[in-house]
Amino acid sequence: MILILLGPPGSGKGTQAKRLSSERKWPHLSTGDMLRSAISAGSKTGLEAKSYIDQGTLVPDSVVINLIAERMSAPDCKNGFILDGFPRNISQAEALQKMLTSQKLDIDHVVLFVISDQALIERLSGRRTCSSCSTMYHLQGAPSKTPGICDQCGSPLIQRSDDQTDVVRKRLSVYAKETEPLIAYYRDKGKLSQIDATQPPANVSEQLSRVLK
Ligand code: AMP
Repeated sequence: MILILLGPPGSGKGTQAKRLSSERKWPHLSTGDMLRSAISAGSKTGLEAKSYIDQGTLVPDSVVINLIAERMSAPDCKNGFILDGFPRNISQAEALQKMLTSQKLDIDHVVLFVISDQALIERLSGRRTCSSCSTMYHLQGAPSKTPGICDQCGSPLIQRSDDQTDVVRKRLSVYAKETEPLIAYYRDKGKLSQIDATQPPANVSEQLSRVLK
């Protein structure tokens, strides 16, 4: 199964990818998580990516394409994987198609998470992320049991610097300009399904399972 979760930042792709990955044992490939790990590790890739992420713009294609190509070639990806946050524009989609075709593979599903900008801004401004395991919480909608501490691993929760309102607005405008063209791209290939991402996570999971049946 090669599955792409497509949708704006904050639409719940990461939450659903994590659930699906633990249920079905498909690796979850998130370029955002990979880049944040590279920043924490202080690697060359991390140093290059940081200023783009802090401004809410896209990291250069060559950087993310190399990251994803390396990750896709790992043994745990041989039976498929879930892509979250990649591809983010048409040239990344074309690079992905080339990589898959060269391995005689193809995308099975592209699922579009549909949600309004207003709902996204509310979600992202209250979002808190575990600094260690990336589990996500929401101050009102899904708080941790102990404020500021991850239920899963006990590490501190942080607000991602790019979840601040001005950066969120920039990320949404980048999504509209760069990523939305992928909707028509995958619809034309007959791969696209869409789900209502304004619903609570359990309901979104059900919609996703129905699409994948
Ligand atoms: P995410 O966690 O997917 O919301 O990504 C956070 C940030 O990482 C984005 O705002 C971009 O700066 C960068 N990023 C993640 N994935 C990509 C990608 N496929 N192409 C370019 N930049 C990316």
